[in-house]
Amino acid sequence: MPVIINFKICDNCDACNAIPVCPTKAYHYNYEKKTLEVDEKKCTDCGLCATSEKSCSVGAIRWSRDPEEFARIKKEIEEDKRTVADLMVDRYGATPINMPFYCEEGNLKKVLKTGKICLIEFYKEELTECLIKSIPIKEIFAQTNEEFVYRKVNITNDDVLKKYNVTKIPSLVIIKDEKQYGEINGYYSVAEKEELIARIREILKTVE
Ligand code: SF4
Ligand code: SF4
Repeated sequence: MPVIINFKICDNCDACNAIPVCPTKAYHYNYEKKTLEVDEKKCTDCGLCATSEKSCSVGAIRWSRDPEEFARIKKEIEEDKRTVADLMVDRYGATPINMPFYCEEGNLKKVLKTGKICLIEFYKEELTECLIKSIPIKEIFAQTNEEFVYRKVNITNDDVLKKYNVTKIPSLVIIKDEKQYGEINGYYSVAEKEELIARIREILKTVE
């Protein structure tokens, strides 16, 4: 049975993107049991439910090619501490889900004058990859006891990027009292989360 659904991060609904992707209708929603499931008799192990771009964008469906891989994925899922709620919050590298985090380019100066540490994420709407390649913001928030302001700025003018030494979008720029302490350029996958958090922590240490 190669397909495994990680229900820890799946909202388990009948509107699942993987249902129309499955060519044999093996992947379906069982209305009686109220759950997504795979009919092993119909499944041809094609892997499309897990690998197609049209399928689940949060990586909740996993597919293995051999028993070792199956065992490894099963273990990964058992140890996965994420919950569906983690996917519902704003994430580094994605368009804002909570509008209070959003800041117009033109309002940025005002935000930077709050006197607090400002974590400004520059992103471009058309470049956002997807949820699987982005980090829940609450884990970033947990990195300091200091009060800080987090804002996401959709970049439409590349001059802004030059001003803040941004070389790759998304970028997280750390500023206090209008002084820039550092920037982290580019996407970080969930697997690289610790590296991203360590880099944020390093920069935060230098903030006066
Ligand atoms: S798209 Fe992904 S998260 Fe949504 S119901 Fe399907 S498997 Fe679950
Ligand atoms: S592996 Fe292929 S046949 Fe099996 S459930 Fe997924 S998409 Fe359907």
